[in-house]
Amino acid sequence: MQSTLQHASNARILFGAGTLERLSVEIERLERSRVLILSTTLQSGDAYSVEELLGDRGVAVFDKAVMHTPVDVTEAAIEVVEQNKIDCLVAIGGGSTTGLSKAISYRTGLPQIVLPTTYAGSEMTPILGQTEDGLKTTLSDPKIVPDTVIYDVNLTLGLPAGMSGTSGINAIAHAVEALYAENRNDATSEMAEEGIRRLASALPIIAGNPRDVSARTDALFGAALCGCCLASAGMSLHHKLCHTLGGSFGLPHAETHTAVLPHATQYNANDEPEVMRRIATALDGAHAPAALFSLGQAVGAEMALRDLGFREEDLDKAADLAVQQPYWNPRPIERGAIRQLLQKAWAGERPS
Ligand code: NAD
Repeated sequence: MQSTLQHASNARILFGAGTLERLSVEIERLERSRVLILSTTLQSGDAYSVEELLGDRGVAVFDKAVMHTPVDVTEAAIEVVEQNKIDCLVAIGGGSTTGLSKAISYRTGLPQIVLPTTYAGSEMTPILGQTEDGLKTTLSDPKIVPDTVIYDVNLTLGLPAGMSGTSGINAIAHAVEALYAENRNDATSEMAEEGIRRLASALPIIAGNPRDVSARTDALFGAALCGCCLASAGMSLHHKLCHTLGGSFGLPHAETHTAVLPHATQYNANDEPEVMRRIATALDGAHAPAALFSLGQAVGAEMALRDLGFREEDLDKAADLAVQQPYWNPRPIERGAIRQLLQKAWAGERPS
């Protein structure tokens, strides 16, 4: 399947198996000729393959992308941009590499083409989170959205089974919150439901066989839909909790989303019964929070925050931080109930 998706932002989106072949044409469309390829150190092999594929247009590789987009890494990359008269960025990787690309583009105005290799969804959004002196700040600007996103299923086949499961549930979290967002609409809700359905059916298959191309296609298409949801709908309690746990306690991104999502969904269950029914149906389950928990277990994820390194003595502090400047949420944010939610997520209790 190769196709072009319609998207709320102006990003041009290509989807399919083998779409990487179209990269040179996309660079030509942007009328650019001197490309810097970005990646993490772990994926530098992929970055050098892309450089080779681009021939004369592939000018340099910068393979130092890391989590949370530290400003000093961005500045080091911009030196490479200036030294090599770069006129276009190509990012190959997950949310961390996309974050670096956005940070460079935001400062230099360079066009960016993103080749996602996880299900995180950052490639669809106008949001950039960065860290400097240990502080994380987030900004949003339409010019941060990549010019072109090339989803190539083949680039996801090497994503390890464990990371595939948690990254996919990270994507599902965008869709769950889009379904009960204050600014929800029929289009985002349809995309959300279909995104959840595709990922939920594909992820357990990928857990058993990470190179199953059909399941990978469903998962990446589902993730693209969930990314559209993230770009178009407001996020609520679940994202606030995960930003708190990641930003203030250093918990890992996708794994934390996976362990928290059943409990954040449960928190809103009584206020959004119709949304819960839609989520449960998309998950082929009877009760949305329990079905999300079962999906996490089916992909072999840690479902207790304590197993991700979160300490019981930090529960009170996390609850305090999570209720400060809360995001809009269907159910009012009550500190006592949030503390209970965190306790259950810490212990890894199945919601019922
Ligand atoms: P990641 O980009 O940090 O990747 C994790 C590791 O997996 C890296 O070492 C990466 O190189 C490796 N990896 C990625 N794809 C691979 C593949 N196919 N094969 C083998 N290894 C692979 O993880 P992520 O979950 O994609 O992104 C998380 C980051 O993205 C967080 O910092 C989060 O805040 C940010 N994010 C931002 C937005 C936004 O809209 N701004 C949205 C989602 C996530």
